[in-house]
Amino acid sequence: MLIDNHNREVNYLRLAVTDRCNLRCNYCMPAEGIQFSENDNLLTIEEMKRLAQILVSNGVSKIRITGGEPFARKNIMELLRFLSELDDLKSISITTNATLIKPYINELYELGIRHINVSLDALDEDRFFKITRRNSFQIVKRNLFTLIEKGFNVRVNCVVLEGQNVDEIISFVKLTEHGNVCVRFLEEMPFNGGNKTFTKLKWDYKRIFQHIETEFPLIKQLPVERSSTASLYKVPGWKGSFGLIPSFSRTFCGTCNRLRVSANGDVITCLYANAYTNLRTILRENKSDSLIMQSVLDAVANRVANGHEAELRSKSIFKNSMTSIGG
Ligand code: SAM
Ligand code: SF4
Repeated sequence: MLIDNHNREVNYLRLAVTDRCNLRCNYCMPAEGIQFSENDNLLTIEEMKRLAQILVSNGVSKIRITGGEPFARKNIMELLRFLSELDDLKSISITTNATLIKPYINELYELGIRHINVSLDALDEDRFFKITRRNSFQIVKRNLFTLIEKGFNVRVNCVVLEGQNVDEIISFVKLTEHGNVCVRFLEEMPFNGGNKTFTKLKWDYKRIFQHIETEFPLIKQLPVERSSTASLYKVPGWKGSFGLIPSFSRTFCGTCNRLRVSANGDVITCLYANAYTNLRTILRENKSDSLIMQSVLDAVANRVANGHEAELRSKSIFKNSMTSIGG
C-alpha cells in the first residue's frame, strides 16, 4: 500500500500515454500547440506496461489512461489489453476527446473497460469549433451516443469557460433527463500552455451550482466516494446525474489519492506541483523493480498537503499545458 507523508493512501494512477492531441482546445493549449516531447522521450508501451505492473503490485488499484489524446497513441490497445489482465487492478478508465475512439469501442467493451470520460465543452457545432479549433463535433456526438447506447459508464467532462459556453450549462444538465450519463462541470484551470493567465475565476463551482439550482430548484445531492473530486447531483426522476469539480478552487485535496505519470515519465504528485522526479532513465537503464518503486515512494513521501501550497512552491507552473500533465 502506498501512503503519503500526510497519511493519504495513494491508489489511483493517472497515466498520460502521449502529449500529442488532434484537437487544440483553447483552454488547454495555444492554436499552434505546445513544444511536444521528442518521440524518444515518450515512455514506450513496454515501459508503461512495466511501470503499471510495478505500481499495481504496490497498491495501485485504479488506472486512468489520459493524455494528450490517448487514442492518438500508436498501439494504445496493446497497453489496455495488458492492463486488463492485471488481477489486482480493479478499475481501468479512459479520458478521451472521443474523436478517434470508434474503431476501438467493441474491443474496449470486451476487455471489460467500462469507464469512459468524454470531454465535450459545447453542444453547438460552431461553438465546438471555436473552442477546439477543429471540426469534429459530429464525430464526437456520434461516438458519445454509441458509448452510452453500448452500456459504457460514460461521464461527460465540460470545462466551464467564461464568455464561451456558460449559456450551455443548462442544456448540458438536460442531457441527463433521458441519457444514462453523468455530466461533470469542471472549473477552468490556468494550464493552457501560456495561452492566458488568471488568478480568479468568475465561474467557480459555487456559481455553476447556483446557476443550475435556479433552473432546477429540486436537485438532490448524491453520495460520493471519499476521494472523489466531484460533488454529484440529480434532478429527481431524471436518468443521469451531474457533478461539479472544483479543480481551480481545490476543495478536495485533503482526500487526494492520485499519482500522475506524464507521457515522458515525469512523476507528478499534485496537479499544481512541478514533477518530483522522472522515471524514463531508470526504466531505460533496466534497473530493478524495487529501485523504480523506490523513486515513486520518495515522490509519494514528499507530497504537498494541497494544491494551494503546491502553487506557492512551483515556479512557472501555469506555463504548463494540460495536454502534457494529463488532466
Ligand atoms: N484529450 C483527452 C480529453 O480531452 O479528454 C484527455 C486529456 S485532457 C488534458 C484531460 C481533461 O483535462 C479533459 O477533460 C479536459 O477538458 C481537461 N482540461 C484540459 N485543460 C484544462 C484546463 N485548462 N482547465 C480545466 N480542465 C482542463
Ligand atoms: Fe486535446 Fe484534451 Fe487538450 Fe482538448 S483538452 S486539446 S482534447 S488534450
